[in-house]
Amino acid sequence: MRIAFLGPPGAGKGTQVDLVSREYGVSVLSTGDAFRAMMKREDKLAERVRSYVEKGELVPDEVVFEIVKEFVDNKDSFILDGYPRNLRQAELLDDFLEGKGLALTGVVNILLDEDEIVKRLTGRLVCPQCGRVYNIYYSPPREDKLCDDCGVPLERRIDDEDDVIRQRIKVYHREMKPVVDFYQRKGLLFNVDGAGDIHEVFERIKKVLDGK
Ligand code: AMP
Repeated sequence: MRIAFLGPPGAGKGTQVDLVSREYGVSVLSTGDAFRAMMKREDKLAERVRSYVEKGELVPDEVVFEIVKEFVDNKDSFILDGYPRNLRQAELLDDFLEGKGLALTGVVNILLDEDEIVKRLTGRLVCPQCGRVYNIYYSPPREDKLCDDCGVPLERRIDDEDDVIRQRIKVYHREMKPVVDFYQRKGLLFNVDGAGDIHEVFERIKKVLDGK
């Protein structure tokens, strides 16, 4: 199993990647997590990466690809989360893997309606003390807007405001349309409906993966 997961912010991609990784025992590279870990260091590369991530910009393709290359190299099975983010990244990966005779076996594309994404993300509340995440629609705290564990008032993330979310979704679709088309042409794309609860979505993904 050599797969990449695609999906807009709020579609539950990270959650599903975790479940798939545990169910099938396949290791995951999340490029976002890799950068967050890297930024704790004090070297030149960490400084360079920080200058992009802190502004919410994409890290240059060549820098990301170094990390991806090292991770996928000669692996029989892997899951990529957060890569590719644009067509160039998809092509770099494709060339590299084909050269090794270990091309991707599938790309899971989680789909979710824009209004549903906005509802999920605007409903999100985070505890500033322990980091626990709630959702006023799906997993509300026991007491209105207070953390169940710490009792402190919950907060909204600054990038979870309605218009900011719609902008993030627009940018995502603009960048990812050519990537989706690229994998579609290769017959690797599997669209999965991201609506419903976590386990319903996971069952749909398993059906796709087991059928391959
Ligand atoms: P994420 O956790 O996936 O939202 O990633 C956090 C940040 O890491 C992004 O805002 C980018 O700055 C950077 N990043 C993660 N993956 C990539 C990628 N494939 N290409 C470029 N930058 C990335």
